[in-house]
Amino acid sequence: MATRTKDYYDVLGVPESATADDIKKAYRKLAKKHHPDANPDDPGAAERFKEISEAYRVLSDADQRKRYDELRRYGGAGPFTGRRPGARPGPAGGVRFEDLGESGFGGIGDFFSSIFDFGRRATGGHERQARRGRNVELDVDIPLRVAARGGKIRVTVPVREECAACDGTGVAPGASLEKCTRCGGRGTIAYEQGGFAVNRPCPECMGRGEIPTQACSVCGGQGEVRSARKLNVRIPAGVEDEARIRVPSQGERGPGGGPQGDLIIRVHVGRDAFFSREGHDLVCEVPINLAQALLGSRVRVRTVDNKKVVLRIPPGTQSGTVFRIRGQGIGAEGERGDQLVRVQIRVPEDMSDRGLELARELADEEGLPY
Ligand SMILES: [Zn+2]
Ligand SMILES: [Zn+2]
Repeated sequence: MATRTKDYYDVLGVPESATADDIKKAYRKLAKKHHPDANPDDPGAAERFKEISEAYRVLSDADQRKRYDELRRYGGAGPFTGRRPGARPGPAGGVRFEDLGESGFGGIGDFFSSIFDFGRRATGGHERQARRGRNVELDVDIPLRVAARGGKIRVTVPVREECAACDGTGVAPGASLEKCTRCGGRGTIAYEQGGFAVNRPCPECMGRGEIPTQACSVCGGQGEVRSARKLNVRIPAGVEDEARIRVPSQGERGPGGGPQGDLIIRVHVGRDAFFSREGHDLVCEVPINLAQALLGSRVRVRTVDNKKVVLRIPPGTQSGTVFRIRGQGIGAEGERGDQLVRVQIRVPEDMSDRGLELARELADEEGLPY
């Protein structure tokens, strides 16, 4: 469906403050006037009717209307799909008939858009337009280590694809299509609705006007199959939480031999018990004991790559001192951040009598009050 740049309020001739009832009334009046059946000699009627239906589809849905109003205020009230983020995408601007159960026909606007998608398909007969496949969005949890250093992850991509056995026609090999007897091949059936006659897609042939003599056994005549594709995806080093990674041509196959959609991975970086992230640096805390703090020591510290690095603690180190291990932070080789090690002095809670005696001696020796 062509994207529209007309203002939906102008199309329906209502102000932005119009109530849901005003919008419905305006729509009914206009739909009746511009209905293609009422204007058989006017080729522009169908286009106007589509515009009206599209405007009503958006403005009659409180959610979509709100989003449209926002877009409109920012000067972007052009092409609008009204799709919520995360909703399964359909063909541009339309509601797919397959997406609507019988109950899905409650909204008259949705219902008209579906007719137009179908009208086109029905008149097209078998020759189907090649379209680009849908993008698939996938949420993936990755450990901090992978986010920091990059790496490959294995993902399972749920896809709905054109059935390869029947090329998306739903017809069993060797079978053919015959004219639908219910609608006489028109693909639509006339109903009385809202005071005027409307054509609904024929439920028997799903608006195609034709029915396979035998349905494809692989897809049950749907022309589509669901499958799960397994895939290795490279995660770049330093990826941020909530980042999106686009994997070209790993979405759904395009109907009619069209190009494949993309796979879009939304990365969720897991929390790590040891490391926290500060820009390109990784911060960790390492406990040392009183003797190590006083006398100095060498402690082994784990890096995000699970390597052990020996860190030298000088004598007289204070609690909270931060040591920097260069090049063990986040990012690709050559541009990695650092690992910051904050030492915390742990004082023994349960010392022996001898230990406490030595502590008193130490205090007396150094003139420390206690
Ligand atoms: Zn039919
Ligand atoms: Zn099939």
